Amino acid sequence: MYSIDEVHHILQFIKDLGLEPIHLIQTIGHMEFVLKHPAFHDLREEPRTPAVLCPSKPESLTLVKNMLQQALDVQPDAKYFHIGADEVWHTGVCEQCHSRAITNEHKVPSLYLEHIREIVLFIKQQRPELVVLMWDDMLRSINIDPLEYYKIGELVEPVVWNYNVMEHFQIENNLWDTYKKIFSNVWAGTAFKGANGSCQIMSPVTRYVSNQKVWLKEIRSLSNKINFAGVILTGWSRYDHYATMCELLPVAMPSLSFCLLYWKSADEHTQDKLQVSEVLLEEQWPGFKLAVCVHSFVMLRERALQLLHGDAVATWFNPWQLKHRYTSPAQVDRIAGFSYSIWADLKMLQEDMLQQFPKVTGKRSSDEWMESYFVPLFKRISDIYEAASAASLASASVRPT
Ligand SMILES: [Zn+2]
Repeated sequence: MYSIDEVHHILQFIKDLGLEPIHLIQTIGHMEFVLKHPAFHDLREEPRTPAVLCPSKPESLTLVKNMLQQALDVQPDAKYFHIGADEVWHTGVCEQCHSRAITNEHKVPSLYLEHIREIVLFIKQQRPELVVLMWDDMLRSINIDPLEYYKIGELVEPVVWNYNVMEHFQIENNLWDTYKKIFSNVWAGTAFKGANGSCQIMSPVTRYVSNQKVWLKEIRSLSNKINFAGVILTGWSRYDHYATMCELLPVAMPSLSFCLLYWKSADEHTQDKLQVSEVLLEEQWPGFKLAVCVHSFVMLRERALQLLHGDAVATWFNPWQLKHRYTSPAQVDRIAGFSYSIWADLKMLQEDMLQQFPKVTGKRSSDEWMESYFVPLFKRISDIYEAASAASLASASVRPT
């Protein structure tokens, strides 16, 4: 998506803000962005999905190493490097992987661990001082023996991610026992947006702060056992490469702000007293106007769905009644009135959104968001308004035979 000049600009911009940029290059799972291209079809582990790279084909390693090399070259002073490696849903499927797995003492996990080992060694050969991070989810189900055999603890620091709220948060003690033996440092992965449902467009602050709170509790309770090197607050914009856009960054600014404030609070006492709000002051809220548009859209969508799925339409304006023109003008007038009011508000909002989107994101993303969320709803409301207006002109008819 970005030219090398743009990448340099972004890296410099991050540094000027006093932040430490960390590259995340996916190296086995979430490889859709590469494997969807015809030139790389043959490197899929499972032909039906471009998500997972086959770790057995020599070209796969060449591809991953090339990507890693580009990222290493563009940031010679990097301190950390993240190799992703999460959600590898298909493993040991292709013929080569299958036969490698059955002949290996450590069976299927050996495919994944050998791949990780190879790419981390490639990074470390060039930059021994780099701390290499990876998501931990694929490690969770692997026994301690192969983890020890492949010396994973000497290669990476795992980011244990769990985005649940307090009530649903659980990490097995066995996992911490294993990680304690394998890793000298562990990171926590929390979420400030994009973990509330794959097509959610709002980022409720209390929901995400709850995730930070339960993580801090977990870290404190493990303080004698696990050395936490840091916390990564993730902010996802899609669940995967083919998934729709979810919670936008401007919408999630209050969540990000309060989640960070929570970690910045010095002690338990000030953390407990932290007053959480769903909004920020406009001057503290980048993308405020677009966020307000999305809030308005959510309210209008609620009104529209109440009308479309409500009793009035089901009782006096359902598909059978429409087909047979068996409607009563007085009832239909009310539906026309409601739908017009929602239609007019949506129309106004559309103008605002089309103005605000380009200030935050490019045309490509704004078109995608509008056509995924706004346009389909606007069409349904336009259709019902048109149908109701037409039907309200007809007088009450007799029941068709
Ligand atoms: Zn394979």
